[in-house]
Amino acid sequence: MGIDVEVPVPPFADPEQARLFQRLLLLYLRDLKGAGEAVGKQQFVLAGVVGLHAPELHAPEPRRGTPGRPRCGSCATPYPCRTTLAVAVGAGLPIGWRDPVQVARVLADAGHEPRRGGEVTPGRVLWADGWGAVRQDDGSWEVGIPLDRGEYATERVEDDAAMAARLAATAGTPAPFPYGWVEDEDEAASMGPAAARAIAAWDGHVALPYLEEHRRRGAPRA
Ligand SMILES: [Zn+2]
Repeated sequence: MGIDVEVPVPPFADPEQARLFQRLLLLYLRDLKGAGEAVGKQQFVLAGVVGLHAPELHAPEPRRGTPGRPRCGSCATPYPCRTTLAVAVGAGLPIGWRDPVQVARVLADAGHEPRRGGEVTPGRVLWADGWGAVRQDDGSWEVGIPLDRGEYATERVEDDAAMAARLAATAGTPAPFPYGWVEDEDEAASMGPAAARAIAAWDGHVALPYLEEHRRRGAPRA
């Protein structure tokens, strides 16, 4: 058994904490496949994008009243930037959030906004469209999920940390095109041949030792 390494919780004042977050995010993305499967081309490209948004080597000098926080190398905003945070929470990186208010503050600082009229308080979560949650007296949360015809289903979430994880999971990359969207058939068909060539080329590339050795990583499959 290895030693447990925990994902640090943003925001970061310490550049090493930012670099640890970046490394764990990339390792987590690498592991988002079945053990025994080859590294996917999309996976490899996503790692490259995340790499472009790595923290700069040196945090800026602190200015009066503001600590020098590590910055994204592409966006020049505090690390993790909007893109990196979206990838991390959208992919389900196990960040040890304390409560929904902490998540909401980090999301908003990075440029992710709640829905119109949304708010997150110690007792209520209204962030993404479609659901809301209210904290109960015993510390659990009741989540209301709209069904058809104005009816609601309710789910119970165990505690503040679990509610925070649930909020983060819905806030990262909501409804990306083309999943769930209407596509233009001509546009969609036009990409097929080039994608087929890219996959064929990748099948050769992924057999190289530096990628092949990652085949054993990932989630065990039943
Ligand atoms: Zn960035």
